[in-house]
Amino acid sequence: GDASLDIDTLVIGAGPGGYVAAIRAAQLGQSVLIVDKAHVGGVCLNVGCIPSKALISAAHQYESAKHGDAFGITAENVKVDFSKTQEFKNSVVKKLTGGVSGLLKGNKVQVFEGEAMFINQNEARVFNEHESPRYRFKNCIIATGSRPIELKPFPFGGRILSSTEALSLPELPSSLIVIGGGYIGAELGQMYSKFGTKVTIIEGADTVLPGFDKDMTQLVAKNMKNTGIEIITNAKAESAEQTDKDVTVKYSVNGETKEVTADYLLVTVGRRPNTDGELGLDLIGIELDERGLVKVDHQGRTNIPHIFAIGDIVAGPALAHKASYEGKVAAEAIAGLPSVVDYKCIPAVAFTDPECATVGYTEQQAKDKGYKVKSSKFPYAANGRALSLNNADGFVKLISDEETELVLGCQVVGIEASNLIAELGLAIEMGATLEDIALTIHAHPTLGEIVAETADLALGHPIHIMA
Ligand code: FAD
Repeated sequence: GDASLDIDTLVIGAGPGGYVAAIRAAQLGQSVLIVDKAHVGGVCLNVGCIPSKALISAAHQYESAKHGDAFGITAENVKVDFSKTQEFKNSVVKKLTGGVSGLLKGNKVQVFEGEAMFINQNEARVFNEHESPRYRFKNCIIATGSRPIELKPFPFGGRILSSTEALSLPELPSSLIVIGGGYIGAELGQMYSKFGTKVTIIEGADTVLPGFDKDMTQLVAKNMKNTGIEIITNAKAESAEQTDKDVTVKYSVNGETKEVTADYLLVTVGRRPNTDGELGLDLIGIELDERGLVKVDHQGRTNIPHIFAIGDIVAGPALAHKASYEGKVAAEAIAGLPSVVDYKCIPAVAFTDPECATVGYTEQQAKDKGYKVKSSKFPYAANGRALSLNNADGFVKLISDEETELVLGCQVVGIEASNLIAELGLAIEMGATLEDIALTIHAHPTLGEIVAETADLALGHPIHIMA
């Protein structure tokens, strides 16, 4: 018959928000059903963070193999078989999504592959080709994520790609236009460039990676230019015309209209929350803001108290670790725990070359908050490890409160910035001062020593540069 099946917690969407929420809810004793209309792992594992990083590391490997000259290494005939690169990427995705499925099963989370639609505030139906059971839930966590924004003049299809298709091209394009130089466009543009593709980035702002500090993005822009990427800033892409073998983009810059032709066009101009469509949020009266994001409180609770929303469909940085963090909080709130989200310390990383990473406040943000700011910046070039890696372009910048010497934020640009930033998240979370960091012994020779020396510098007594 069509009776509802009873569960404690329904999780809609199995991305890094949903699957983490489901596991945490199960750990806390709830009977949990997670549904996804596509694949376990969501955007992040299938068409986002993981496949992009797999391709980026392959591109880096290729580039290193070709450019060992500084180390006295010359390699001839370095070749790439991009179908094998794609196989590598697919195998990484498969391992991880398989791992997540195993974890869900191990935690006794029921998994249903299908699309969820609310019937009312306590029931949802989930559909796939074969069946459409309905479930009555005590609590629900919505984690339906986001999708690439499609602009009218650049409809996806054929030679016009979203990030999803750009991660699965069957062969290396000889040329690529990227509209939107945010972190996704910059990462994928550099990845293809390293593989030998001629890349042109068209960006509306005055720099690539407009979300990061200028002194950081300058280093990325310099590297891009040195490696043959053309960056067109302050430009507005206007239209595209495609044939069966290429695509031409018209754009305006300084009042002039110009055009550029390439094999493919990748459009990365942001993402839209999956809060519209068949899901039925309007039907059950869930409140959205003007951008289509679900309004939630500090535990992720919507205006309907037993329904929560997390990840890319709520405000804040659209990042996987932020989605997972909110997922844990929502599952704990359902269990009656006093967990709340605190956005003070969410790191953001661009896996560009060099990498850019930030956590806590930037100098400007700290000033805007009314702090008397002390900022210190230490160069990679004065670090033995960076030099021995032959990769010494970058810096660590520490933002602290001049009065209390509390660390308020940190920005890193350079090799391994993505890993260096973790220590600073902990420092800020724990209320560390500059001295706490300076007195922490960092192994030699490591990039971590740069962090300690940046604190020494702020305190006025660095060893490896003149104060
Ligand atoms: P998603 O991962 O989007 O998952 C939502 C899931 O819900 C999907 O699987 C979808 O099928 C399912 N769904 C939607 N509607 C329904 C429905 N009605 N019924 C059932 N299921 C439904 N973030 C980082 O932190 N680091 C990175 O390096 C990084 N790189 C990225 C690179 C790219 C190319 C892209 C596109 C994104 C990247 N991101 C990165 C962002 C990251 O992928 C997202 O922030 C993250 O996936 C959001 O997680 P989520 O759980 O909110 O939703």
